[in-house]
Amino acid sequence: MYRYRPAVAPSSLPASPAVNSAGGGSRQLVLVPANRADIESGGAAAGCVCSICTNLLSDPVQTACKHVFCSRCINRWISDAVSDGRMATCPMGDSRELTVSSGSTSVDGCRPLSEANPQLFAQLSGVNVQCPLARLDGCNWVGAYSAALRHQQTECPRAWVLCPLSAHGCTERFRRSACADHMTSAALAHVSLLSAKLDAWESERSAMLKQVG
Ligand SMILES: [Zn+2]
Ligand SMILES: [Zn+2]
Ligand SMILES: [Zn+2]
Ligand SMILES: [Zn+2]
Repeated sequence: MYRYRPAVAPSSLPASPAVNSAGGGSRQLVLVPANRADIESGGAAAGCVCSICTNLLSDPVQTACKHVFCSRCINRWISDAVSDGRMATCPMGDSRELTVSSGSTSVDGCRPLSEANPQLFAQLSGVNVQCPLARLDGCNWVGAYSAALRHQQTECPRAWVLCPLSAHGCTERFRRSACADHMTSAALAHVSLLSAKLDAWESERSAMLKQVG
């Protein structure tokens, strides 16, 4: 996925700690400001950048020393330090040790940005961003940061979706914009999937009735 980078990245920081981490699962959503100059020019987005990954904050948390990072970035930062046998301290230079208690998934003393700094959270939520699929898949949507995930999951015409009848056995996958075409072209296939299912239910039902009777 395309990642926004300012011209000068802090050289002491790892290149891309947060995205596509092993294990798949929920990938960190990387959102790109609609107006890229917004960060350089000190606009609303400028205060909302994670200094580890240099992207707009994703799932942001505030540390006890009041610095804000993507939750994945700061967790990764700490686990990298721990596996190197170093003490993890804040990437912003504060010397207090950062720890993750065993059994916990979040950094000790970290709070979600929405609680710790509602004003900054509101600023971030309002930053205009591109569709997460803009670069690779050509969606032109621009909207508030807070609406981007919903856009991708429920509206984006370029997002890959399963056939609405996937639960009934259709295995087709296509871009959301092609759904109407699929429903037309696969109408017969869908009818036979559904009627096969009805037949199966019907024979189950009559078998049950026989047992009862
Ligand atoms: Zn980050
Ligand atoms: Zn700090
Ligand atoms: Zn989109
Ligand atoms: Zn289908």
